[in-house]
Amino acid sequence: MRRKIAILGATGSVGSSTLDLLERSPDRFEVVAVTAATNAEALADIARRTKARLAIVADESKLGLLRECLAGTSCEIAGGADALAQAATGDADLVIAAIVGCAGLKPVMAAVEAGKTVALANKEALVTAGDLMIAAAARHHATILPVDSEHNAIFQCLAASRKEDVSRIILTASGGPFRTATIGTLENVTPDQAVAHPNWSMGAKISVDSATLMNKGLELIEAHYLFGLTSDRIDIVIHPQSTVHSLVEFVDGSVLAQLGAPDMRIPIAYALAWPERLETPAERLDLAALGRLDFEAPDPERFPALRIAREAMEAGGAAPIVLNAANEVAVESFLRGRIRFPEIARVVEQALQDSSFASPQSIADVLEIDRITRTRVTASMTEICH
Ligand code: NAD
Ligand code: MG
Repeated sequence: MRRKIAILGATGSVGSSTLDLLERSPDRFEVVAVTAATNAEALADIARRTKARLAIVADESKLGLLRECLAGTSCEIAGGADALAQAATGDADLVIAAIVGCAGLKPVMAAVEAGKTVALANKEALVTAGDLMIAAAARHHATILPVDSEHNAIFQCLAASRKEDVSRIILTASGGPFRTATIGTLENVTPDQAVAHPNWSMGAKISVDSATLMNKGLELIEAHYLFGLTSDRIDIVIHPQSTVHSLVEFVDGSVLAQLGAPDMRIPIAYALAWPERLETPAERLDLAALGRLDFEAPDPERFPALRIAREAMEAGGAAPIVLNAANEVAVESFLRGRIRFPEIARVVEQALQDSSFASPQSIADVLEIDRITRTRVTASMTEICH
């Protein structure tokens, strides 16, 4: 029996890496549904190549184009954000959640409520709705498999262990392109410099997050929900080579780590084949050629985003939603050249100080807090910029 796969966000970076793996193992996998935000042509191309039965474009105005591009095929077509859940709840055995941002929340929740196995790349789903997602997964017997490389590494290290034997987990961070930059030079770094990640090839937003270390802050929150660990049991260490993807320390002092080339196809493959493994074309580690692995403590002065994210995680409730929304607006402004790099963290911290939302009780509440925060932060930044 081939495993039936639905890919939410098939046209993105994680979506493309997933397709690359699936197309190499047609005997093991069958793509049943694919979705994209707006790019109907690319989506149609993927649907044709994979013979998917369902293709959904979130931007309804692109439905006609998608229909034209898929004329003559038997692929079912749908459009609009509300249609995305169809791909998440159909006959897929495994749903790849690779939409970026809060647009992924509803479809991921739909997959969880349908009791699916969800390979989760969409970290915003756990950062903003972690309590709701984890509770729903327990209620509906859904399985969440982490795709984010650090969380996938921890998941692999935990495979043969009892949860009560874990003393802490250690997330590694590359340190980004400004790891050795002085606090003075950070004032003047450009968007181009910020998106030039030393090890991983990723989208602009997540690359800027790696440069501020906010990506690690979001991953801290993601880990807290995924593994049910309190703040004092999640540490972060800078590891510039991005070879050790994260570690787990046990009560006896043993530490297990997962290592590998910085290639997202490795964690994606683990989620695709779990509990088995899948061959990938990823480069093999040559430890002798690598020579050394370095580790250092993160600098809270130059990279305050980590502290801010940890405080938001400890506050819980709506704080992580505000953190995530304010950060997205601030990063977007930085990329447009409207604010300076260190202002990203300041904008986020200010947004957290200014907000007093009640804890969200539903995905609708999460989306509302997200929306209000974006509006407020956008307005406050217009003030900064004028
Ligand atoms: P991407 O921007 O390359 O792709 C995003 C996908 O989501 C695209 O298919 C796009 O069409 C779709 N999408 C975007 N907005 C949408 C909307 N409003 N409605 C419906 N679909 C929408 O992003 P990516 O780099 O593939 O990342 C996807 C997720 O995985 C993110 O949450 C990211 O943080 C996480 N992640 C990515 C990497 C990586 O290496 N790229 C690593 C770890 C985690
Ligand atoms: Mg990661």
